[in-house]
Amino acid sequence: VDRLPRYAAGKPPVVVDGLASYKLSSNENPLPPIPAVAEAIAAQTDFNRYPDPLSTKLRTALADFLDVPAEDIVTGAGSLGALNQILAAFAGQNDDGKADEVIYAWRSFEAYPICVGLAGAESVRIPVTPDGRHNLEAIAAAVTMRTKVILLCTPNNPTGPILTAEETERFIKTVPSDVVVVIDEAYQEFVRAEDAVDGIRMYRKYPNVVALRTFSKAHGLAGLRVGYSISQPELTQHLRVAATPFAVSQIAEQAAVVSLQNFDQVVERVQSLVDERDRVTAGLRGLGWFVPEAQGNFVWLNLGEDSAEFAQLAGERALSVRAFGNEGVRVSIGEVEANTRFLDLCAVYT
Ligand code: PMP
Repeated sequence: VDRLPRYAAGKPPVVVDGLASYKLSSNENPLPPIPAVAEAIAAQTDFNRYPDPLSTKLRTALADFLDVPAEDIVTGAGSLGALNQILAAFAGQNDDGKADEVIYAWRSFEAYPICVGLAGAESVRIPVTPDGRHNLEAIAAAVTMRTKVILLCTPNNPTGPILTAEETERFIKTVPSDVVVVIDEAYQEFVRAEDAVDGIRMYRKYPNVVALRTFSKAHGLAGLRVGYSISQPELTQHLRVAATPFAVSQIAEQAAVVSLQNFDQVVERVQSLVDERDRVTAGLRGLGWFVPEAQGNFVWLNLGEDSAEFAQLAGERALSVRAFGNEGVRVSIGEVEANTRFLDLCAVYT
């Protein structure tokens, strides 16, 4: 076991000294694309042509699937691409040359500070509660004249809990109507909490809300880079102007359309991961670990100072997990064998 290499990124070796290695560090779907998606990708050939810049087929399919107007949907290279478009449109510098402010919980998705910085805006981070929840009162209190965008992440990556419908709506009502509230629902399909907020319901009611979704997680298409935002025309018209031309490739668009057409298979796979998530969460709690509400395809261990050590021990067991500073470790739900090996490590870790 000592001789097993540790890998920070990239493809781990499949088998090392008889021990299969597993990547549980990026909240990916461990399952390969569903057969119809793989076939649709293989059938494409006309790569000499540019894709449809408006992703019309995908937006039409999504409009039908979500029961929203296609005009309200803007696609991007992953939901990160869609987020960059939102920030480019709404956050940057004020007329006085000062940076606009973008507020979000912390810890949350590690790309937020990068995207906000790229847009030329300033991050305002509001600590999550000890059980990994957004502190919406503190976020509301942090709003200033310079605040342009608020990012809400539900379930929160990396800590796991959802925002409830009730608290989110109450919060949105307190936010000035010229501040854009983004509800990042990258893990929405994994949510089983009945009181969870639904970004699409919020976007229908509030013209300053953007729902952000992706094909990377439940649909398992992270490598193809396709995501989208949904907002009312008041915001969408600005997003179209800020959208990167041809951001979604034709392969990505076609794969996403076929995945939506086969959503029953996606749901089945998601359910198997939800079952595994619940097995891992219950197993950890049974061992006496504190695990915040886990509604995504990952669990969070509040390991504090021991985070790096735990990640190293996992690496020695050929499990790649993600330590976040001296805060904690996030472990993605993967193959059954990987999850069991992770539980076995937690059973002996003291
Ligand atoms: N939002 C959250 C909360 C995420 O965790 C991720 C991926 N880790 C993304 C957005 C971005 O995903 P993608 O760009 O692949 O859609």
